[in-house]
Amino acid sequence: MKKPIYLDHHATTPVDPRVLEVMLPYFCEKFGNPASRHHAFGWEAEQAVERARTRIAALIGCAPAEIIFTSGATESVNLALKGVAEASAGRGDHIVTVATEHRAVLDTCRRLEERGLRVTCLPVNREGLLDPDDVRRALTDRTILVSVMYANNEIGVIQPIREIARLARERGVLFHSDATQAVGKIPVNVEEDFIDLLSFSAHKLYGPKGIGALYVRGRNPRVRLSAQLDGGGHERGLRSGTLNVPGIAGFGEACAICGREMDGEARRLATLRDRLMHRLLAELEDVFVHGSRERRLPHNLNLSFAGVEASTLMMSVKEIAVSSGSACSSATPEPSHVLRAIGVPNDLARGAIRIGLGRFNTEEEIEYVAGRLIEAVGRLRRQSPIYQTMKESPRSESEAAGQS
Ligand SMILES: *Cc1c(COP(=O)(O)O)cnc(C)c1O
Repeated sequence: MKKPIYLDHHATTPVDPRVLEVMLPYFCEKFGNPASRHHAFGWEAEQAVERARTRIAALIGCAPAEIIFTSGATESVNLALKGVAEASAGRGDHIVTVATEHRAVLDTCRRLEERGLRVTCLPVNREGLLDPDDVRRALTDRTILVSVMYANNEIGVIQPIREIARLARERGVLFHSDATQAVGKIPVNVEEDFIDLLSFSAHKLYGPKGIGALYVRGRNPRVRLSAQLDGGGHERGLRSGTLNVPGIAGFGEACAICGREMDGEARRLATLRDRLMHRLLAELEDVFVHGSRERRLPHNLNLSFAGVEASTLMMSVKEIAVSSGSACSSATPEPSHVLRAIGVPNDLARGAIRIGLGRFNTEEEIEYVAGRLIEAVGRLRRQSPIYQTMKESPRSESEAAGQS
């Protein structure tokens, strides 16, 4: 078994060697610019891009022409939200989103508020789920866009996207989903789900970093979007700039592999994740799993061990790579906004660790991780006066009340 063991697949994933293989010729040998219309180097690169576009489109059930390449999900989200806001100016100025979104969405919404738009940020229940009725009530005649993430990057909760998107469609409001954690892991189909715009990224599905896509619905309805970059008019004028050909070729292969292997891989990872969860719950007391256990990504686990700080735990199991809260917020001591939104008390939220299993994790690794975590949590609790007091006089001490 190789160490450290990587269990942080919501932050990023390794490039699959099969993906790298497909990318390599496009660096030195087939280096052409797909915008070069008059020679073989350009044609060769364009062919690679269009083949990848077709494979990516197939994974989410759209037409190849509806895929716009970007640098990643952050850029896709910015293009979707700002692009719709600008293109709809005059017709509406209201956006509906959710408290547990990724910063890419929340910070873009904040920017749009500065520009004079109104944003409604809906709450979620204790499981992390959005109530479609809340969306229905939030829609007004000025609403131009509803943006709800497909699956959460911290607690793995899968939102009722089809129901929410159907509501938006019935009201003539565009629906965007940040599906960065879902595409390639669980089935996503923009037709069946009534989705108009969809953001995702190659490096979350075993492709390279720096390449992503925005799906933009071409008909029924045709989405109108303002470009956010000016230049050569690439990607139907929506995203100027020379295409990242090796990245795109890799993205295409990564999507093709996910399409073929998703079902079996989801079952395998759910089995490993459940085994890990059940061992932790059986062999340790006061373990809290955050987020719905039913509507959840197969490879996600997010939990707290009462009386144990996440940073202390991670320092004592350095050969295991997990995350506290989300990678983006782990530099700040603030509890995660997602855990706060589902009502996790601050002390437990600070102890939360996010475990994201992936394609190359083995059963042996997961058994090792379970044993190490059980041992480390037990040891840290025996050394913790607060936890000892809480166990000796449950419910009579104020600390105990705060912990439960
Ligand atoms: C990782 C992630 C992003 C950002 O993706 P990049 O490609 O790194 O810009 C956005 N949203 C969610 C839900 C993510 O998990």
